[in-house]
Amino acid sequence: MKILNEIKSNRPEETKIINCDVDLDVSLDDKFLRKTAINIPDISESDVVRHYTNLSRQNYALSTTFYPLGSCTMKYNPTVNEKIAKFDEFSSVHPYQPQHTLQGSFEIMYELQNSLCEISGMDYFTLQPAAGAHGEYTGLLIIAKYFKSKGEKRTKIIVPDSAHGTNPASAALAGFEIISLKSDENGIVSPEKLKEVLNSDVAAMMMTNPNTLGVFEKNIAEISKLIHDNGSLLYYDGANLNAVMGIIRPADIGFDVMHINLHKTFSTPHGGGGPGSGPVGVKAFLKDFLPRFTIIKKDNMFFLDNDKPDTIGSMKSFFGNFPVILKALCYIKSLGGQKLKEASEQAVVNANYVMAKIKDKVSVPAGDRCMHEFALSTKGHLGEGVKTLDVAKRLLDYGYYAPTIYFPLIVEEAMMIEPTETESKQLLDEFIDVFLKILEESKQNPDLLHNAPVNTPVSRLNEVQAARKPILHW
Ligand SMILES: *Cc1c(COP(=O)(O)O)cnc(C)c1O
Repeated sequence: MKILNEIKSNRPEETKIINCDVDLDVSLDDKFLRKTAINIPDISESDVVRHYTNLSRQNYALSTTFYPLGSCTMKYNPTVNEKIAKFDEFSSVHPYQPQHTLQGSFEIMYELQNSLCEISGMDYFTLQPAAGAHGEYTGLLIIAKYFKSKGEKRTKIIVPDSAHGTNPASAALAGFEIISLKSDENGIVSPEKLKEVLNSDVAAMMMTNPNTLGVFEKNIAEISKLIHDNGSLLYYDGANLNAVMGIIRPADIGFDVMHINLHKTFSTPHGGGGPGSGPVGVKAFLKDFLPRFTIIKKDNMFFLDNDKPDTIGSMKSFFGNFPVILKALCYIKSLGGQKLKEASEQAVVNANYVMAKIKDKVSVPAGDRCMHEFALSTKGHLGEGVKTLDVAKRLLDYGYYAPTIYFPLIVEEAMMIEPTETESKQLLDEFIDVFLKILEESKQNPDLLHNAPVNTPVSRLNEVQAARKPILHW
């Protein structure tokens, strides 16, 4: 109170514009006053800064190391896009502002809707879903509503056994039964096997192309025909779009609904739970079912298109994750069509380069060529008692983040490597050398791998406990 009064009385004359009508001379009852010194650590700023900086360095991050986490597209994201997303003009606006004051933000969302249409071939996009899985759920609700509007009762969704776990989970959440379809010996969907499970109960089939083995589903034209002749729809899990930007468009190869993971393909660092964005694109005949909060343009002004009587509703508050949307647009506009295509081509070349250099020393179940990632099996290629998990742990000792392991489920002792387009040949060569060295170590000195990692802040964790009872503070 004393301090406030001092501030009040020391205020220069000209700043006293409004007289404060709150009585600041409040006296607190003695029982509320602290009797002893406050118990906070007495530490210098430099000690605090060093403590937190050193803590941050105990983590793996793209800014410190290679992150070949298959299926996740952990590519380097240009920092300039982060900077733009932090501009006051973007970060200080609020969705409750009158629409005419939000024109700039609306234009950004409108432009991204259009860019995603162009990249995917779809006719309309919603930017509302917050992640890939959320996009799947949105797409499946759209599919459900479409059949309901036609008075058709279709209760089943076909999901290949190579699919990401979110696919069957989203389908179940949307109220469908799941038919799991076994991949053939080449790791892809066989039209013959598809025919066996296709009937009038099937609402849709979900596909990832390239699939999670990193293999392009080359029978897609035939599959699309079978699905559509059956009156069903084809859903595209676009999490692997990084392999095909500017090369194929999902809408052109038969897909009706899709999601894109902006946080994988279009410049948002992700992991640890967010932030993400999973826009959903549809062909024109599904437009009416899209969520609210899409942006339209009329007479050079941008508006919310909330006049949607058949909408599935809102999937999230307001527009979705605006900063992620903004970063995606910056990324797309700064690269342009040609460079987006080159990014995908480079991602595919990099994955094939790593695969070609190591495939004789491990098993690569799905053929000679991969797309932007590949799954390998270490089974039969490691020393006594050594598992894929041990190889992953040993990679940490050499300073690399470990690739995805034990996924896809259809590959025994799986490891999935996705180098992405942002890594140099020199880095890939170093990684390959280390990987091959670890395979040798597993035979010469298996315990080296069993005990790994030894160079990290914590050694081998109890994985079950780590997931169930994580220690989230230091
Ligand atoms: C990452 C991924 C998903 C799920 O995306 P989230 O944003 O993590 O929900 C779905 N399918 C595939 C193939 C993926 O790689």
